[in-house]
Amino acid sequence: MYESGGRGPLYQNGIIKMLSIIIPAYNEKQNIERTAETISGILVSREIPYELVFISDGSTDGTYEEIRRLAERDARVRGAEFSRNFGKEAAIFAGLELALGDACIVMDCDLQHPPEVIPGMYELWQDGYEVVEGIKKSRGKESIFHGLSAGIFYGIMSKMMKMDMRSSSDFKLLDRKVVSVLLGLGERNTFFRALSFWAGFRSAKVEYEVQERAYGSSKWSFRSLLRYAVSNVTSFSTIPLQMITMMGVVSILFSIVLALQTLIKYLAGTAVEGFTTVILLILIIGGFIMISLGIIGHYLARIYEEVKGRPRYIIRERTDG
Ligand code: UDP
Ligand code: MG
Repeated sequence: MYESGGRGPLYQNGIIKMLSIIIPAYNEKQNIERTAETISGILVSREIPYELVFISDGSTDGTYEEIRRLAERDARVRGAEFSRNFGKEAAIFAGLELALGDACIVMDCDLQHPPEVIPGMYELWQDGYEVVEGIKKSRGKESIFHGLSAGIFYGIMSKMMKMDMRSSSDFKLLDRKVVSVLLGLGERNTFFRALSFWAGFRSAKVEYEVQERAYGSSKWSFRSLLRYAVSNVTSFSTIPLQMITMMGVVSILFSIVLALQTLIKYLAGTAVEGFTTVILLILIIGGFIMISLGIIGHYLARIYEEVKGRPRYIIRERTDG
C-alpha cells in the first residue's frame, strides 16, 4: 500500500521535477487500484515525485468511480472520464493535456508495460534525454491471428514511415518540451507512437519485456485494429496517393501495348475476336479506378474530419474540478 494524502512537491537540486504517469483506461475497473499501487510503490521507494493521471475512455464498468475513489484517498491520483469511448489515442492526449509534470510517461492500465522500467526512464530523462522510448523485447503472448495482423500492419507502417515500428509502443517518457510540441500540433488524427519519432529531440531507448495482461482481455478487435491501421497510414503518409499515380502509369504502358496490337490487327483485317481482352481490360481498369477512389476517399475523410475541427475528446467529469 502507498500512503494516503499527497506528500507535497519534492524538490531536487532546487527545482521541482515531477513525473506524470498517464494511464488510459477503458473498462479496466479491476486493474486501476492494482496498477496505481504497483506504480506508486516503485516511485515512492525511489523517491521520485509523481502524479498518476488516469483517463477513463468512456468506460461502462465503473472504472471512473474506482479512479475517483483513489483520488479522494490520495492527492497524487487524478483522473477524468470521457463522455463516451473516444479511443486510446484521444485518452493519451487528454492525459498529456491534464498532466502537470515536467515529464510524462504514458503506459497501459493492464501492467503489460512493466512499471519497474520507470526509474530507468526517469534516470535517462535526468541525464538530459527528452524522449525515452519503451521498446518491446518480444511481443508477449498473443494469438497467432493477432500476431499476424499486427505483423502486416507494422510491416506496412515501418516501410511507409521509414522507422522500425514493430517493436515500438505507446510506453514512453516525454519531456515537457516534447509534450508541448505534441499538444500544439493541432491535428486531431494523431498516431502517438510515431509522433515522438517524428518530433525528434534527444532520445534514448529502454527495452522491456511485455507482461501478461493483469486482468480482463485486450480491447482490440480485428475491425478496430484495421480501422486503426488505415487511419494511421493515412494520417502519416501520402504513399497510397502516390501509388494511384503508379497504377495509372502501369495502366498506360499496358494500354499502349494493347493499342498497338489492336491497330495492327485492325490493319491486317483480323480485328473481330478479342472480347476476352475487352472484358479483362474493363475489369482490371474498373478495379484500379475503384481502389483509387477508395484511397482518395480515405484522405478526403481525414481532411473532412480535420476541417470540421471537432474536439478530439469530450471530458464528462474530472476528479479535480
Ligand atoms: N484503451 C483505451 N481506449 C480504448 C481501448 C483501450 O483507453 O478504446 C486502453 C486500455 O484500457 C489499456 C490500453 O489502452 O490501458 C491498451 O489496451 P489493451 O490492453 O486492450 O491493448 P493491447 O495491450 O492488447 O495492445
Ligand atoms: Mg494490454
